Parts: sequence; structure tokens; C-alpha cells
Amino acid sequence: MRKNNRIPLSPCLRRFRFYFDLLGRTTKDYLFFTDLQENLVMVSPNMVNDFDLPGEIMYDFDTYWLPLVHPEERGPYQASISKTFASQGPCEHNMEYRVKNRKGEYAWISCRGRVGLDRDGKPSMFVGTMSRMAQRNQADEVTGLLNKYQFEHAVKLALAQYRATGEGGAIMVLGLDNFKIINETYNRMTGDMVLRRVADLLANVIPPPLTLFKLDGDEYAFIYPGGTTEDVAEIFASVQSALSRPQDIDGHQYFCTASCGTVFYPESGKDYLVLHKHAEAAMDIAKREGKNRNVLFSKEQYNRWVRSISMRDSIWESVENGCVGFSLFFQPQVSAEEQKLIGAEALLRWKNPKGRMVAPMEFIPILEETKLIIPVGKWIVEEAVKVCKKWRRYVPDFRVSINMSYEQIKDLSFKDFVAECLERYDMPPESIILELTESKIVADWSFINKQFDAFRSQGIAIAMDDFGTGYSSLASLKNLSCDIVKIDREFVKKILENDFDRRLVQYVVDLCHSIGIYCCIEGVEEEAEYELLTKECKADAIQGYLFGHPESVADFEEKFLLGNSGD
Ligand code: C2E
Ligand code: CA
Ligand code: CA
Repeated sequence: MRKNNRIPLSPCLRRFRFYFDLLGRTTKDYLFFTDLQENLVMVSPNMVNDFDLPGEIMYDFDTYWLPLVHPEERGPYQASISKTFASQGPCEHNMEYRVKNRKGEYAWISCRGRVGLDRDGKPSMFVGTMSRMAQRNQADEVTGLLNKYQFEHAVKLALAQYRATGEGGAIMVLGLDNFKIINETYNRMTGDMVLRRVADLLANVIPPPLTLFKLDGDEYAFIYPGGTTEDVAEIFASVQSALSRPQDIDGHQYFCTASCGTVFYPESGKDYLVLHKHAEAAMDIAKREGKNRNVLFSKEQYNRWVRSISMRDSIWESVENGCVGFSLFFQPQVSAEEQKLIGAEALLRWKNPKGRMVAPMEFIPILEETKLIIPVGKWIVEEAVKVCKKWRRYVPDFRVSINMSYEQIKDLSFKDFVAECLERYDMPPESIILELTESKIVADWSFINKQFDAFRSQGIAIAMDDFGTGYSSLASLKNLSCDIVKIDREFVKKILENDFDRRLVQYVVDLCHSIGIYCCIEGVEEEAEYELLTKECKADAIQGYLFGHPESVADFEEKFLLGNSGD
């Protein structure tokens, strides 16, 4: 709103008012005209309105303007103005800085002004324009930080600097973790406040004179010419500590962390698009690896990331089409003493749309990360139960072991699904064993135990898989209620030449037996290993290439079941 203004115009201002008003109608920029002798400033109405100034004509303009200038740019602003006014000849003030607008938000403006001299050569007027950089696509509307176009420009300048001086550096792109949840839980306005608060926190931790930029969405970035791995680690540690304090925004307490991707130039790219792409990829990897961390770009990791992205799409498609491309292979398990077939472990296989078999180590992490393991896991249970029913015709007590991911345990509908599936196929609970990898269950014992107990009370056995590969195997054994322990191949590998490993297996089996746990040894490849494991270590069951590789249903039937009808 335009305010009343009773200050009389100076003769100098009166002379130019007409042109000033006329000019004001031709542009969206802000105009200003200063009578330096009278210390009187005339500004355009849009400037009064946008910055809530007392009027179009003001004495001592800087008493109003300076408090609005962002504290970081106040010093440089004053220095530039003093230099301009002190000059003896015509001199230009040309600066970009942030000014707080009527809404209390900082907006970037670009100001250009020139000092005019009177007939005696003394500075008499200062005239110029200011433009809002957001209008010219330069500043981010929400935070007032320079935007992605300015970031691009700055990266190009840094690369030009590198070409001129040989000095490379680092580019860090930071993305907020779970920002979507803040937007969804509250509203966009709160989300914007969070973005502004984070912008302030980040601006405080990056060392001057580095500039913070705001990219799309919840991402920020800055360039660190000369920045080393140590510098980058130090900055990220400061970011983490700045964000570790809970923030109070609009009456809501919230925590947010950031994931960061760092690229070094020229090592990881000599071109803006490449560097930006690599930094974004590194940030995405940081998020996938658990968030709240900084990942330094590497080519190998990037190639893996690209492969996993395209694999992700194909996996989605497979699942959407009813798990087409997935199949189960089965690996026989035999009783240690008699070498009788007692069951099989169901192992998931996936053929990509080009028909190539992809290793489980590659596609299972993707299923887990996308939570697609939940529908696929149900499909696995159903297929495994069906197959088990069929094979019980040959081996009446046949048991099928099914691998379970931690994600599935967390899904509380899984338990009911398993029970319902057994009922549907009229199969007893003893026909399946659920395996969970020991290395994944270090945390959250009480929750996992509760889930395990729920299965066990239904009569479904639980196996602790890959025993010995986690951080605290013995602690898992002590704290988890399971029926079977599967000792990992890691131990078996060295059992023949290493007395310690042999004794270790022997003790673990003994310990398990003393508390009523059944022991299956995995990865047995040689006859000598088998001999030692059964005779000395007293294992209960064996699974390994010595007795059979994982096979398709048809091959398994042909190799291990046909001609083996129940005896
Ligand atoms: P795992 O559960 O430990 O499965 C045993 C792995 O050891 C299988 O690899 C099997 O082929 C391999 N193996 C068996 N005997 C021998 C041997 O004598 N020597 C050697 N060197 N290896 C042997 P596979 O099929 O590649 O599966 C790898 C992992 O993928 C599995 O390890 C399991 O963690 C995961 N996985 C497989 N199927 C499923 C599934 O249906 N659901 C879930 N959640 N994970 C699965
Ligand atoms: Ca397993
Ligand atoms: Ca295993």
C-alpha cells in the first residue's frame, strides 16, 4: 500500500519527478533517485510496497534500508555505497544482495546505480534500478538463496577458474531426508519454513566466502574451490551437528537430517551437466545407504547405481505382472548321519526382460529397498508351500526352508498370510521353516523375538541363517528364540586346514544342542568336510554342493525325488 508522504521534494528531485514517474510505468524493476546534497531519496511505489518503506520520499534512506539488508551482505553493501559516493569521478555501484521483503522473507536483488556529478564535478545524485532476481529467474522464491541457474553459472565459473589456474575443488549437493513427510504431515507452508530454517543453518556452517545455492525441491548445494576430502568431511560433520538439534517451527518440533553427494572436479567431470549428475547420483546413493551421510562420488559405485536403477524398473514391471520372471530353485538338505533327503531351501531367481539370470545378491537388495519383497515374499511362500505339498508325496516329512527379509518381519500382515496359506493348501505348520539372516538382526531383538514367537506358537520353525557372519553371533544366539541355526559356509571353508575353525564349529553345535537347537551346516562341498562335520562336529543336517546345487522344480524332482518314493 502506498503511504502518505509529507516530505517536500527538493528542487533537484522536482526536476526529475516527471521522468521518474514515466519510467516507473515501463518496468517492474525498482527505481531510486538520490539527491546527495539534501540526503533525500525518491523510490518507486513498488519498492515502498514490497519492502514496507515509510514513503516514496525519504531522508536518510539507509536508516530504513540497512536493517532490511541481510546481515551477511550488510558490510559489503555499506562498503560498496561508501566507495561509490566517495569517488571523485562517475562511479558505479553494482551489487547483488538479499533484502527482507514485507513478508519477512529475504529476496535477492541486483542493484545498479550511478553517481552523477554537478557542474563543479561534485557528486550530486545517485540514480539506479534494482531488480528482483527471482523475477529474472535467479533466486529461489522460498529461501531467497540463489537458484539452480545461478548454481550452474557458478559451477561453470569454477571450471573456468580451474582451467585458468589448475585449482580444482569439490561440489556438495545436500538433500533433506524425509522432507516429503514434513510436507505431508503438516502443510506446504510449514515445509517452506523448514526449507528456510535449513537454509539459514547451512549458510552458517559453510565457511565464508562459499555461497549456498538452493536447487529444486529440498536440495541445496555449494562449490568449494580447493576443497579436499578432509574439508568436505569436516563440513558435513558440521551440517550433521547443526541439524541434530530439534527445530521448532510453527509450534511443531521436528528433526531432519540431510544426505549429501560430493564430486571433485576435474576428477569426476569437467562439465557442469556431468558433475551435477554425478553429485545427484552420489546423494541418491547416500539416501539408499541409510541417509544422514555423505557419499563421495566414484565411477564404480555410479555404474552399479545406474544398473540398479534400470533393474528397479524391470523388477517393478515383473512384480506388477504377477511376479513374471521370478522362479524358485530348490537346494536339497540331507540328514547328516544317513544322508537322507529331508527338505530343501527355496532360493529365489529372477530373469530380467532380456532373459538374463540376475544374481540374488543384485536383485534382492532392490526388492528390499523398494519393499517389493513384501508382495514377492508372499508369492514365494505360496509357491514353496505348493511345491512342498507335491513333494510330500515322495518324502512325507519334507520341509521347505523359506528365506525371509527383515522388511517382511516388519510387515505385520505377513504372519496371517503364512497361516492362511498353510490352511489353504492343507499343510501342517511343520512343513515350512522360516530363515532370517543373523547379520540383519543385531538390533531390535525384542521386536524380532515377538514376531518369532508368534510363528513358533503356530508351530512354524525359525532358523537363524548365516550364523557367524554377523557382529555378535553369540549374542544373537543368547537373545533370539529360534529352533534351527544354519552355520555359514565361511566356517566350513577352512575347516580342513584350520583346527581353530573346526573346534569353533564343534563348540557352536554343542552349545546349540545343549539348548535344544538343531544345527544345519551350509556350503559343504567336499567329502572330507562332510566327514569332519558329521563325525566330529555332530551337525544334524547338511546343505551344500556335495549333495546338490539349487535346481528348478523339474530338475529337483528328476534328480532327487523320482525313484525315491518315501523310503
Ligand atoms: P542364503 O540364504 O545363505 O542361501 C544359500 C546360498 O548359498 C545360495 O546362494 C546357495 O546357492 C549357496 N550355496 C549353497 N551351497 C553352496 C556350496 O556348497 N558352496 C557355495 N559356495 N555356495 C553354496 P544364492 O541362491 O545365490 O542366494 C544368495 C542369497 O540370496 C541367499 O543366501 C539369501 O540370503 C538370498 N535369497 C535367496 N533367495 C531368497 C528369497 O527367496 N528371499 C530372500 N529374502 N532372500 C533370498
Ligand atoms: Ca537361507
Ligand atoms: Ca545361509
